[in-house]
Amino acid sequence: MSRGVPADDTAGAGAGGRPPIGPPDARVVARFAGPGTFARLPTLDAVGRAEVAIAGVPFDAGVSYRPGARFGPQAVRAGSKLLRPYHPALEVQPWDVHQVADAGDLAANPFSIPDAIASIETGADDVLARASTMVAIGGDHTIALPLLRAVARRHGPVALVHFDAHLDTWDTYFDAPYTHGTPFRRAVEEGVLAIDASAHVGIRGPLYTRGDLDDDAGLGFATVSTLDVARDGTDAAVARVRSRVGERPVYVSIDIDVLDPAHAPGTGTPEPGGLSTRELQLILRGLDGLRLVGADVVEVSPAYDHAELTALAAASAVYELLGLFARQASLHRHRPR
Ligand code: MN
Ligand code: MN
Repeated sequence: MSRGVPADDTAGAGAGGRPPIGPPDARVVARFAGPGTFARLPTLDAVGRAEVAIAGVPFDAGVSYRPGARFGPQAVRAGSKLLRPYHPALEVQPWDVHQVADAGDLAANPFSIPDAIASIETGADDVLARASTMVAIGGDHTIALPLLRAVARRHGPVALVHFDAHLDTWDTYFDAPYTHGTPFRRAVEEGVLAIDASAHVGIRGPLYTRGDLDDDAGLGFATVSTLDVARDGTDAAVARVRSRVGERPVYVSIDIDVLDPAHAPGTGTPEPGGLSTRELQLILRGLDGLRLVGADVVEVSPAYDHAELTALAAASAVYELLGLFARQASLHRHRPR
């Protein structure tokens, strides 16, 4: 495996105290060559242990409308090849501060939702045995439930910051309790969320009934709608989320349909009038300093994509998350003992 960009004095340690292994330098090895992993990072198998593992979860049997998110992980990895090592807004090198690696894809039965949920949970446990944290690439939003279970087992109930056009707290679809529209109601019922610290961001669009928003609020969620962001700006959205989350361990779940279909057409349930990619980036950067313990980016369905818009936006969201993890690690390292 080629070494990444030369480590500077902010570089941290990989497994066994050696410097982290990064991607091949794109100024030497063309970025369209080399490994098909996220950002051309090494595999988790190659490095043994990582601080942050990226895992694909190619499952889409929980969707209610357009399918195809099973092909999301490979599309987002392809869209990640242009990412460069330095994040200027966060002033950090996401894969130089600590080891980041691609754990490959978690197994999921496409014919049985309960089987898939069980194996995703087991797969997440396996990855988390070799990595401190994980960023999952879906897959449809059903996968958030088993991922939250695995994270809550390690950290206790987590604050959820959920970016989505949709609430995803409905009870059932066609009597099915486990779907991409229901994961967060199940998560509340299972006690894996710190509900008083959780919030949806980007909610918009038509609902089933007038009572849907009240039902969701009744579960305990706060909501920063897309209209709130449009009216009050991203700083106000960040302030509301931060005051909600406080010191809690936080899990960030990003349904790419939080973006406007102009920014992310390749998704299963597009809702016009959404956030721009830039607004999402700004809100994510605003989470710097929170205690991030896990994340996912879901619902990329490449068959409906154009010009890789959605795959690029999703890869950018993962990059923002990696930037937050790296900031957290370097803050920790420089904190006096
Ligand atoms: Mn959605
Ligand atoms: Mn969703």
